[in-house]
Amino acid sequence: MRIIEPHCHMISRVTDDYERMALAGIEAVVEPSFWLGAPRTSAGTFVDYFELIIDWETQRAKLFGIDHFTCIAMNPREANNVPLTQEVLPVVAQYCRRETCVAIGEIGFDRQTDAEEAAIRAQLQLAKKLDMPVVIHLPHQFKKVGTERTLKVVTDEKMNPGKVLLDHNTEETMPLYAGTKFWRGLSIYPITKLTIERAANIVEQYGVERLLVNSACDWGPSDPLNVPKLVQELVVRKFPRDQIEQLVFRNPIAFYGQSDRWTFKA
Ligand SMILES: [Zn+2]
Repeated sequence: MRIIEPHCHMISRVTDDYERMALAGIEAVVEPSFWLGAPRTSAGTFVDYFELIIDWETQRAKLFGIDHFTCIAMNPREANNVPLTQEVLPVVAQYCRRETCVAIGEIGFDRQTDAEEAAIRAQLQLAKKLDMPVVIHLPHQFKKVGTERTLKVVTDEKMNPGKVLLDHNTEETMPLYAGTKFWRGLSIYPITKLTIERAANIVEQYGVERLLVNSACDWGPSDPLNVPKLVQELVVRKFPRDQIEQLVFRNPIAFYGQSDRWTFKA
């Protein structure tokens, strides 16, 4: 099956992972900017990181015929360093115009502080000004209240819901989207957060409209093949093939295709 991996941190993976992903049917990946596991101390390290994912990761992906796209942002956790955020936001405004950048992201809440909210609002306003899609990370702790707060902020900022993806949902947050047009994401992890089985249950319960699934595949315990593995699980459960294809291929195209830098040829 043709697959697009809509949220993966390839900077954390070895080159062999790209090969395995290509063999499993993944044709394009989107790499949002994130927290690297240790706090950065200056805006310069963000410049180097953005350059690396825009240029080097794109080259590594190309070796296996995979198209590589990026999302650029100040991440939720480091947004708590307010002086650093003030230095980095202009860098974000510059780098989100680069050739592979298809969205602002990932922004969002981590510890749900006011500093994080200020960084979210600044970057939502940037996205609106540039008419770009936005990828929003939902907090892992106190997730329901964090999701409600996130929905309030995006509604306050009058964002077009069709251009907003809220990622890292669970059984607890999915009902919050009833009647809305926001895109919802599920991140599938081998140990922590959502397993393949739980993700498959959510897909069966809620259907595939405005839903994206990803492996995140960051520096923690994670698996870059979790989207193909979810496909396999859904096939075994006899979930309709056309809907699986919508979930893992047509939906990512519909969301990121709202950017004119999305050059993937379906
Ligand atoms: Zn992420």
